[in-house]
Amino acid sequence: MGFNTELTRRLGIQIPVVQGGMQWVGYAELASAVSNAGGLGILTALTQPTPEDLRKEIRRCRSMTKNPFAVNITLLPTLNPPPYLEYTQVVIDEGIKVVETAGNSPGPVIKKLKEAGIIVLHKCTTIRHAQSAIKLGVDFLSIDGFECAGHVGESDITNFILLSRARQSLKVPFIASGGFADGQGLAAALALGAEGINMGTRFMCTVEAPIHANIKQAIVDASEHDTQLVMRRWTNTSRLFKNKIALEAYNVEKTSPTGKFEEIAPYVSGQRGRQVFINGDKDFGVWTAGQVIGLIHDVPTCAELLSRIEKEAIESVERCRKLYQPQSKL
Ligand code: NAD
Repeated sequence: MGFNTELTRRLGIQIPVVQGGMQWVGYAELASAVSNAGGLGILTALTQPTPEDLRKEIRRCRSMTKNPFAVNITLLPTLNPPPYLEYTQVVIDEGIKVVETAGNSPGPVIKKLKEAGIIVLHKCTTIRHAQSAIKLGVDFLSIDGFECAGHVGESDITNFILLSRARQSLKVPFIASGGFADGQGLAAALALGAEGINMGTRFMCTVEAPIHANIKQAIVDASEHDTQLVMRRWTNTSRLFKNKIALEAYNVEKTSPTGKFEEIAPYVSGQRGRQVFINGDKDFGVWTAGQVIGLIHDVPTCAELLSRIEKEAIESVERCRKLYQPQSKL
């Protein structure tokens, strides 16, 4: 007994839940805990300062779980462009079997991964981008609705539309990303045609997530209204936790007469955001969070969370089944 979807079969996991890549969060502690709990844990490549540090982190993660785990490689506009292909080479050399890619112009990275026989799960926010990724040979799409944390894209299509569009038009299996925190969400995603779900923000709020307890509490205390979109002016829109710095950044975006990215850069800097997770001051810099913060009310272990999600998903399907009665019982 257990889930049997294209995702669980191809990846060799028990529960069709992927822990999405998260900058400054996706370390071995979290990835191994998710994989040990039956989902797919993911290390974030660019959270490691160099490709060699990523190699060490992969080895550390392997010492913490015998189950499969993946690596995320995200290509976004950045203040200091990292050597993406060198990180990719380390992933290949270390025998990683699954990679989550995301962001702009992923072609060269995906080509290299596919040549090495790696399963690629590509995250995107539009059907058009999904179709391009299919041409590059990806194995799964991770369809990321506007509810999601971080880089939401510029089309603002929420998952109720996006997932059904994916079901109607994609020839490649997909998982649902953005807005998921519980088993009711998993059941809904499966009903809409997905093979599983991706969760980021929900996993930030687990015992094993290597971030300060104050930040987990800030998520528990927040409602679905507490996110802020910034950087639309630079076609790089990002959904952030609505704190002091996110609001200041948004104000710069609205009022800057020049529209130069340098004006907002000090506010949205990733290095500054990283400190939030270390010092526990939620207002120290910007950090990403999805609208799903409104659904998160506790800090369970990853094992507790995934077994709860499994139970809720089964109960949800059962509830729906009972809502349909044979004619004679009406
Ligand atoms: P950063 O400090 O370089 O930039 C801060 C923010 O500004 C980011 O959102 C970035 O996309 C944006 N930005 C930078 N230059 C820009 C420009 N010229 N125009 C428009 N927007 C611009 O970024 P960071 O947050 O420290 O990220 C560093 C690296 O980590 C990047 O290469 C990125 O691809 C990667 N990353 C990964 C994830 C993930 O979840 N895997 C999330 C965020 C970033």
